[in-house]
Amino acid sequence: MPGKNLSREEARDRAGIIRVDSYRVHLDVSAAADPGRPTFRSTTRISFDCSAPGASSFADLLAPEVVSVELNGRRLDPAEVFDGARVALPELAARNELTVVAECAYSRTGEGLHRFVDPADGETYLYTHYEPADARRVFADFEQPDLKAPFSFTVTAPAAWDVYANAVHERITEDGDNRTWEFAPTQPISTYLTAVVAGPYHVVRDHYSRELPDGSVLEIPLAATCRRSLAPYFDADEILTVTKQGLDFFHEEFDYPYPFGKYDQCFVPEYNIGAMENPGCVTFREEFIYRSKVTEAAYEARANVILHEMAHMWFGDLVTMKWWDDLWLKESFADFMGSFAQIEATKYRAAWITFANRRKAWAYRQDQFPTTHPITADIRDLEDAKLNFDGITYAKGASVLKQLVAYVGRDAFFEGARRYFKKHAFGNTVLGDLLDALEETSGRDLRAWSAAWLQTSGVNTLTPEVTYDAEGRITELAIRQDGEVLRPHRIAVGLYDRAEDGALRRTDRYELDVTGARTVVADAAGRSLPALVLLNDDDLTYCKVRFDERSLETLRTGLGDLAGETGLARALAWSAVWNLTRDGLMPTRDYLDLVQRFAGRESDIGVLQSLHQQAGTALELYADPARRGEYGTALAEVALRELSLAAPGSDHQLAWARFFAETAERADHLQLLRGLLEGTGRIDGLTVDQELRWSFWLALATHGAADAEELSAELARDNTASGRRQHTQCLAARPTPAAKAAAWSAVVDSDELPNALVEAQIAGFNQAGQRELTAAYAEPYFAMLESIWAERSIEIAMRIVGGFFPRYRTTPATLAATDAWLTGHQDAAPALRRLVLECRDDLARALRAQECDVQ
Ligand SMILES: [Zn+2]
Repeated sequence: MPGKNLSREEARDRAGIIRVDSYRVHLDVSAAADPGRPTFRSTTRISFDCSAPGASSFADLLAPEVVSVELNGRRLDPAEVFDGARVALPELAARNELTVVAECAYSRTGEGLHRFVDPADGETYLYTHYEPADARRVFADFEQPDLKAPFSFTVTAPAAWDVYANAVHERITEDGDNRTWEFAPTQPISTYLTAVVAGPYHVVRDHYSRELPDGSVLEIPLAATCRRSLAPYFDADEILTVTKQGLDFFHEEFDYPYPFGKYDQCFVPEYNIGAMENPGCVTFREEFIYRSKVTEAAYEARANVILHEMAHMWFGDLVTMKWWDDLWLKESFADFMGSFAQIEATKYRAAWITFANRRKAWAYRQDQFPTTHPITADIRDLEDAKLNFDGITYAKGASVLKQLVAYVGRDAFFEGARRYFKKHAFGNTVLGDLLDALEETSGRDLRAWSAAWLQTSGVNTLTPEVTYDAEGRITELAIRQDGEVLRPHRIAVGLYDRAEDGALRRTDRYELDVTGARTVVADAAGRSLPALVLLNDDDLTYCKVRFDERSLETLRTGLGDLAGETGLARALAWSAVWNLTRDGLMPTRDYLDLVQRFAGRESDIGVLQSLHQQAGTALELYADPARRGEYGTALAEVALRELSLAAPGSDHQLAWARFFAETAERADHLQLLRGLLEGTGRIDGLTVDQELRWSFWLALATHGAADAEELSAELARDNTASGRRQHTQCLAARPTPAAKAAAWSAVVDSDELPNALVEAQIAGFNQAGQRELTAAYAEPYFAMLESIWAERSIEIAMRIVGGFFPRYRTTPATLAATDAWLTGHQDAAPALRRLVLECRDDLARALRAQECDVQ
């Protein structure tokens, strides 16, 4: 569609002449509950100045129909000025009033104003999601982050509904079956941060107040909402406790009163991402409300997201990046701050282990793709922006900020942030603005640091080189640094020996700066040779670490013996052996052997769940295909053993039960799952609740041991949004050509399905054990790519491109087909090519790892 993909230059030119005074937006969703109504009425009035009178510009709008356009009292013909994506604005005056009336479409893809009907009770729910550029699906606007303005929303909705927006409502007018909600004007905010949530939501209210340094009292009304049918599971107390702990912490550290009045947190259905930091009206995926037992890691993850979004109120909402190039400014900061605040302000003290184990794994993976990019990215347009919400922008950026805090010190870092908020409140910034503030407070030159860490890409590898004498004393311990760009690293080096109780304990720790290709740890000379040298102990920097031969041997025989107060060293060791496996330097059988021997002893539940996930990937992608069956059976048996050994009712028991369902393949294993479902089998302390039931059904369906009738019966038992998704996934997972054809067709041949069911169909279709069955889809996959990209919304297209890639067909033929497509489609959309290139890289990596496992 012409003009849909706004470029950086267009945004810059527009910001060069336009300043927005205010938006007044009226949305009429009173007929939303009627599924026959595809659109709602949207009326927008924008008051704005133009510094170049006589110039022309444009507003953004993605709508099926524009009813009228009026600019400065002149009616413009929609047929002439609206092209489906933009409203042309000819001959602007110095001061302008634009009114656009449009019929905008309810969304089923989670982009714009999403409409959802709850299967449990038939109620309709709406919410908006815009980042990076979907506000224009709901009202006419200037869709770029640096044209901030106050927004006044008015929403007409069914009388039984509640409506939430960024600001508090000032008035509600009753009119028969409807009510009209008028909201106060917001502070100046960017278009992508505006929000409306409407429906018969269940709400829990609370209040936060705090005395400010000047003696005044800050009052923040709090609300937490979810669908009515989820209310019985809604643990709002826990959510609000973390919320208050976060508000305390950020006020303490940021010294800038929360600027957006109230703080609502809305848990919404079919949400594409984890959460969104709309000021005063944060939206979360409702999967954070747990219907069944989950492990402590799930609560920790949710608390992290609550704090991440809250950090954005200052970093992102109060001060916003100028353009998407600097998306990292807010995301790295919020990602780092989520973990930091968690440790300092809540009961979740293991957040740095999770950070090392999960967030960094995400960053390392992304940073080794050929498509990696510097943390400060080059974002040419909105399609680039959409793909930049990635492991570099979030997790690598956050890792680098963690390193920066180690570099400038905590006090200087926070003092820099405080000055930055005060100086740029309600404004827009670029990287240099943050560096200026941090240089001022730290007295350090951060330009070189920024050049090394933010403006280059790729991950360094650090390897210990140990030499020793005849008495077994270290003559030299050196650290070799590899990578395209060598960087300064502040790291700790831990030396570990076996203690009398058999544990591997740290006996020495050296903290030093590693620079250049080789750095000697001078203090280690003369010490007796340790059992293990662990580089980047305490996880201060961002790098991959390797081991010397002796250390690797120690881990092979005793990784689980690695002790420490927090378990961080063990998490780092697990992460390092995983990287060795991914890099084809450790045979997959060795990695799986470590998991089989030591995962059962892993005390950190988050680490254990990562191990399960990684073992699954190792088995399906990195194992010698000839031995995959044998490895799989061994993993299932280990899972069963650990399931029976785990403490009844524990998180570990639940995690092993799920892993057992994922690995179960043999008839007797499947029979065991069926027995648990039917109540004829029992494991002491294990509650087979609804979510666990679905994971057992998925295992049975995947292996052809559950028929459609049984799955329908389960859906009847759990006729909910979650039940519907899992039922869809189970049907698509069945090992028959008909099941595969139906799933493929439901997603590719039709655009009727909502985002959540697209995801469920794809997840069911692409089963590792069904490589042969889905082989026939490789060719149609490559054939459909360009048309899917052109025809579907980017959110859905991204899922289809990534989800249907034949990733389990790890053969040279698949690699060749991928290369042929890439060669033949040099002109395809760069964002599409990027996704295919990343799939290709995963595949090539799998082939290398398999080769290592064959030898
Ligand atoms: Zn964020």
